[in-house]
Amino acid sequence: MTAMARAPEQQGGDIRERLGVEPVINLTGTLTTLGGINARPEAIVAAAEILGFGVDMVELQAAASRAIAAATGAEAGFVSACSAAGICMAIAGAMTGDQPAVIGRLPDTQGLKNEVVIQTGHLVDYGHPVEQDIRLTGARAVTVGAVNQVSAGQLAAAIGPDTAAALYVVSHHCAPDGQLPFADFVRICHARDVPVIVDLAAEYDIHGYLAAGADITIHSAHKFLGGATAGIVAGRKALVRAAFLQSQGIARPMKVGKEGIAAALAALSLYMAEDRKTVQAGLRATLLRLRDQLAGMRGIVAEIDPDPTGNPFDRLRLSVGPEAGFQAVDMVRALENGTPPVRVRTHQIEHGSFVIDIRSMRDGELPIVGDCLRAAAARAANGPRTTVQEWKAERGSALARWPDSGMEEQR
Ligand SMILES: *Cc1c(COP(=O)(O)O)cnc(C)c1O
Repeated sequence: MTAMARAPEQQGGDIRERLGVEPVINLTGTLTTLGGINARPEAIVAAAEILGFGVDMVELQAAASRAIAAATGAEAGFVSACSAAGICMAIAGAMTGDQPAVIGRLPDTQGLKNEVVIQTGHLVDYGHPVEQDIRLTGARAVTVGAVNQVSAGQLAAAIGPDTAAALYVVSHHCAPDGQLPFADFVRICHARDVPVIVDLAAEYDIHGYLAAGADITIHSAHKFLGGATAGIVAGRKALVRAAFLQSQGIARPMKVGKEGIAAALAALSLYMAEDRKTVQAGLRATLLRLRDQLAGMRGIVAEIDPDPTGNPFDRLRLSVGPEAGFQAVDMVRALENGTPPVRVRTHQIEHGSFVIDIRSMRDGELPIVGDCLRAAAARAANGPRTTVQEWKAERGSALARWPDSGMEEQR
């Protein structure tokens, strides 16, 4: 009997089953393909609480501005639908300022400065290309340098009379080498009065970039913060206001709900009160217990993996060596097809390893995770081999069959 076929009196338990969705164990941490981080209980309560009330959204966003300013050191802020929305709104605001007539005619940018400079190595795809956030507003990206090499002179030369803003991305997806240090980037942009917008969607540092000269920073509320799906935009008041006013323009289809704002603010205040070192030590202790559970698996080395952009937490990297008799991708596939399915981070799967991020692991899942990993290794050893390309193609074709690619279809 499927979950959907349950009698109403049997409802309760896991909402995913009631909705006909197979419960997964989320070891990706914050990946938005799994809905982002599991929200903090207090954020869930705040979202649920405000959903039952009417609230003046402009006033609510003014309250958000005060809370964000206090947390980040910015002059002002607001909550957006997500980071991607925040990036679009910041870029649009840099082009339009606060004039309603101009805001109302984007993405028509006639007569406006409409270029956004960005280092080529920052043109990441985090689920879609960040360049599309630029183009959505009507602006166009002016890329600077090569993927692995950018000079200060190249940035200066890319700035011209039509430059509206510069976008700087901090992410493990960015090219690792040869990028301009943030301080140099800001200095060159500010010398030409170009505002610097910083995409910090997944970064814990919510004030350092502003202190170092960023004009607007953007964080995700559903990644490290532990809120509901939303983004946090913080920065200089005039730019933040211009970005916020896009709500009556191109950002109307990117509307954040009152529940997203309430949850983001609840999460932000808890985040501010936390001691990062204590949180990190707690996560690390759990990772070490998991590593111990995996001891003795043939060909598999589990190691603590510090965050690549220096965020204050670690993950566990599992490298699959030749003695295992299968590849990392075989084990990932076995994990995904297991009962329950387990999702892990696979950004470096081509290099024979995958990563476990326990920031969204639920209470009680730790022993199950150890069992799932052992079972997946056994199934990978005995099952048919796959390649990374085949596995990716499998995922792609599942998406292409949507909505006929859900769990019901696969059974
Ligand atoms: C996740 C991510 C985004 C998008 O964040 P959302 O809040 O989900 O829109 C943008 N940029 C980077 C670098 C990201 O990692």
